[in-house]
Amino acid sequence: MTIAAISTAKSPAGIGIVRLSGEEAISLACGFFQGKQSLDDPANDRKLLYGHIVSEGEVVDEVLAVAFRAPFSYTGEDMVEIQAHGSRIGLERILNCFISAGAEPAKRGEFTKIAFLNGKLDLTEAEAIIDMIEAESVSAQKQSARQLTGHLYRKIEGFRTRIKDTLAHLVADIDFSTEEVEPVDVSALITTCEAILAEMKALESTFTRGKLVQEGIATAIVGKPNVGKSSFLNKMLREDKAIVTDIPGTTRDVLEASYSLDGIHLRIQDTAGIRKTEDTIEQIGIERAMASMEEADLIIALFDASRPLEEEDMEIIERIKDKRVICLLNKQDLGSVLNKEAMEAYFPGAVIETSFIRDEGLAAVEDLIESWFLSGTIEEDEIQIYSLRHKLLLAEAVESLSKAVEDIRSGIGLDLAEVYVEDAFLKLGEITGQTAGEEVLDHVFSKFCIGK
Ligand code: GDP
Ligand code: ZN
Repeated sequence: MTIAAISTAKSPAGIGIVRLSGEEAISLACGFFQGKQSLDDPANDRKLLYGHIVSEGEVVDEVLAVAFRAPFSYTGEDMVEIQAHGSRIGLERILNCFISAGAEPAKRGEFTKIAFLNGKLDLTEAEAIIDMIEAESVSAQKQSARQLTGHLYRKIEGFRTRIKDTLAHLVADIDFSTEEVEPVDVSALITTCEAILAEMKALESTFTRGKLVQEGIATAIVGKPNVGKSSFLNKMLREDKAIVTDIPGTTRDVLEASYSLDGIHLRIQDTAGIRKTEDTIEQIGIERAMASMEEADLIIALFDASRPLEEEDMEIIERIKDKRVICLLNKQDLGSVLNKEAMEAYFPGAVIETSFIRDEGLAAVEDLIESWFLSGTIEEDEIQIYSLRHKLLLAEAVESLSKAVEDIRSGIGLDLAEVYVEDAFLKLGEITGQTAGEEVLDHVFSKFCIGK
């Protein structure tokens, strides 16, 4: 089978690329490519050739074309890439030439899936490709680049090799236990397993931070109407994205903006002011504000320091006091009746006095966020996991290996331990894809775009 797809974004662009992969890729392309040099001449392998795509005697576009012969291509199969003008219509016409000549339209992620099946990359590297494409901050992009270049793969493979070795010892002992074979050194086995376990747990614990780096910190700004929520967002973004007015209830829906703090991005949601209201539309906004608050990694709660707390403020405090909150006592320029120490009772170490009119307190907010989320900044070469799939499998592997250690230690019998060690081995293999079934692969590659 030969598959074909447009691999570039569909909007008008300088260039666009149509890709083909499979046994017939080169012959199909030759059917439409006309140039001084021929694509099917092996001497032109991996050379950009100038020419035209011609269909039924009509020039479709002026292009550059390149052939890659198996196994030296992205997918490991024969491939052709056609660089054409980035016109959606033009690219679709070129694609249709190949489809009408017998190529199959590629499914999501199919090129990468073939590459995976041909051993060009492991599953973590394949997943890193889609993460890199979707990265929204420099640190997220860097993180996926590390995974893309096999850092996580090698780490997991390292665990697998050592676990396999352990398994071999266990199996040997079980198979020959009745005969005159040297018994397994149980304490050495435990030491080895515990060492691997400690490293696996350390890797697992990088998930929280890794995920924050990849996805950004979901931040919700909450507070009564008119306390300065939209002003805060605008100050952080240094632009007028949120509408600031002095009519309470202006921000009726959730407004999302992205803001980068030392490479990590904050996905900030400016929510509707929370208050009792008869207005149905405003009520919907308030419900969304509540939902945004529930899902947030970080809440910025604002209070008008120039007025005493009201019932609505107390309700907000009640709802958020167990979450990660930075409390801002705003409008300090109007004089403060709210006591910072009293608020510290609800939000220890996280109360900041601000005045957006005077630009006061914003740096302190940034500092606090940095100290919470960027503290203990990881080494450039430390390997982090950020995918929930990896984290769950790693946790299962840790659990199985822990059980194995328990069993070996308690002397219950090594055959049960063997089952657990084997399970840990398989779970790790599911991360890298060695032992992943079709279902797992379909799930991973369905998140890709067409043409990748
Ligand atoms: P929101 O409803 O909570 O989003 O509040 P806004 O950001 O729309 O601000 C409401 C009003 O308060 C606007 O007129 C702002 O200019 C004003 N405001 C915001 N921050 C301050 C501040 O620190 N001091 C004073 N005096 N006014 C502020
Ligand atoms: Zn607002």
